[in-house]
Amino acid sequence: MITANTGVGSLNALLESGDLSSVELCQHYFEKISQAGHLNAFITLCEDEALSAARTADDRRAAGDDAPLLGVPLVHKDVFCTQGILTTCGSKILGNYVSPYDATVVSLLKRAGMITLGKTNMDEFAMGSSTEHSYFKPTLNPWDTSRVPGGSSGGSAVAVSAGLAPAATGTDTGGSIRQPAAFCGITGIKPSYGRVSRFGLIAFASSLDQAGVFARSAADTALLLDAIACFDPKDSTSLDVAQANCHERLNQSIKGLRVGVPKEFFDSGLQPDIGRVVHEALADYQKLGAQLIDVELPNSSKAIPSYYVIAPAEASSNLSRFDGVRYGYRASKTSNLQQMYRNTRSEGFGAEVRRRILIGTYVLSHGYYDAYYVKAQKIRRLIAQDYERAFEQCDIIMGPTTPTTAFELGAKTDDPVAMYLNDIYTASVNLAGLPAVSIPCGFDNEGLPVGLQIIGKYLEEAKILNVAHQIQTCTDYHQQTPGDLT
Ligand code: GLN
Repeated sequence: MITANTGVGSLNALLESGDLSSVELCQHYFEKISQAGHLNAFITLCEDEALSAARTADDRRAAGDDAPLLGVPLVHKDVFCTQGILTTCGSKILGNYVSPYDATVVSLLKRAGMITLGKTNMDEFAMGSSTEHSYFKPTLNPWDTSRVPGGSSGGSAVAVSAGLAPAATGTDTGGSIRQPAAFCGITGIKPSYGRVSRFGLIAFASSLDQAGVFARSAADTALLLDAIACFDPKDSTSLDVAQANCHERLNQSIKGLRVGVPKEFFDSGLQPDIGRVVHEALADYQKLGAQLIDVELPNSSKAIPSYYVIAPAEASSNLSRFDGVRYGYRASKTSNLQQMYRNTRSEGFGAEVRRRILIGTYVLSHGYYDAYYVKAQKIRRLIAQDYERAFEQCDIIMGPTTPTTAFELGAKTDDPVAMYLNDIYTASVNLAGLPAVSIPCGFDNEGLPVGLQIIGKYLEEAKILNVAHQIQTCTDYHQQTPGDLT
C-alpha cells in the first residue's frame, strides 16, 4: 500500500520485488493528483508520456535491469525545459512555449529511468516566496489550504508533501527550495553553486540560481542528488569535481560533529515557537554526540538588501530575451516594432516580474551602478567571508529555515518587502554559493511544519545529508503528512 509518505527508496524496493509495476505506480499518483486538484500544484500533466515511459521501465525491469530509480515517478518545477512538453516558468509570456530540448537535470533523471508525471506550479520566473505570483493561480498548502506553500517552488513542495509524487525538482536562488520545503514539512536541498547543471533551467539570477530536489527524506534526497550532480560541459559554471556520492555516506557517525549556531538566526524577527522547536532539534543532535558552538555571521542582516539588488540586476538582463520575437507570447494589434516589444512585455509579465526588471535596470544604470550594484557585490563578499570564518570553528551550521511558518494567502501580496523578508535566513547561503538542506523538525503552536536548515561547507552536500539523515533515523517528523486531502 502506497501512502503519502512512501519514499523513493521504498518504491524502488517494491518495483524490484515485482509487487508493483511502474505503470500501476503512475496510475496511483495520477489518481491522487486528480483528487487534489484544488491544491493547484500542477501547470501541466503528462499522463500519456508518463504511462508510455512507465511501460518501458517495466520492460527493462523484466529484462533484469535493477537501476535504483528505474520506473520511479517524479515531477519537475516548470522552470526546467522539457522536450515536447509545455514549459511556462509560471508566466503568461511563456504560456504557449513548448521546449525543443530537455534541461540537463531532466535528461539525467530520464536516463536514470525516472518518469515525469507533470510540471509544477511556481512563482513567475521563480520570483517570490509564496507561489501566489504564478500566472496560473496560487498553489495551496496541504497542511492548511488557507495558507501558502512557500515559493517559488511551491507546486513541487506541495506535490511531495501531499503524496502526489514521491520526489520533485526545484530551483533555489534565494531560498525557493528550502523555504517551501519548510512550509510543507518535507526535505529539500539546494546544492553548492556549480554542483548541478543549470543548462535548460530558465534563468532568473544566474550567479545565484541552483537546481535541487525535494523528497520525503534526506536518504531519498541523496539518491536523487547523486543522479543529477555531475559536470556538464553545456553549463560554463558547472564544476568538474569528484562525484558527491551522498547516498553511500548517509550512515557515517556524527559523534563529535561541531554544529555552529549563529545568534543572528535567532533574532527578534523569529516566530518564538520556531525558536523553541529548532532548539529542541539542536538538543536532539547533542544526544547524537554533536557539540553546539556559538558562531557569528555579522553581516546577515545585509543579505536581503544585497540579494534584492543583485538578483533583480541579473534578472533584468536575463529577461530581456522575452521580447515577443523569439518565443512565447506576442502582443497583437501593434503598429511598429517598439510598440510590439512594449506591449508584449507589459502584457506578458506579471507585476512582481516587472517590479524586478525595473529595480534591476535602475541599479545597473549609469550613476547608480556604483552606489547600489557594486556595493551589493562587496557585501556579498563580506557575507561569504562570514561563513568562511564561522566554518573555521564548526563543521556545519544549523538554524531555522524561515522566520515564520506558512502564512495566510494574500497576507503579503501587497507588501513586497514583507514577502522578501521570508528569505532572511536562506538568501545569504546563495550569496555565498554554499549547500544547504531544510528538514522538517517539528510543528508550531498551530500544528504547521517547522524547517531546520543545515548549511554545509562548499561542496559538502554529502555531509549535510549525512547529518540530516542521522536525525531522521531517530525522529519521525519527516514521516508526518497533512492527512486526508479530499
Ligand atoms: N523568494 C526569493 C525571491 O523572490 C527567492 C526566489 C528563489 O529562490 N527563486 O527572489
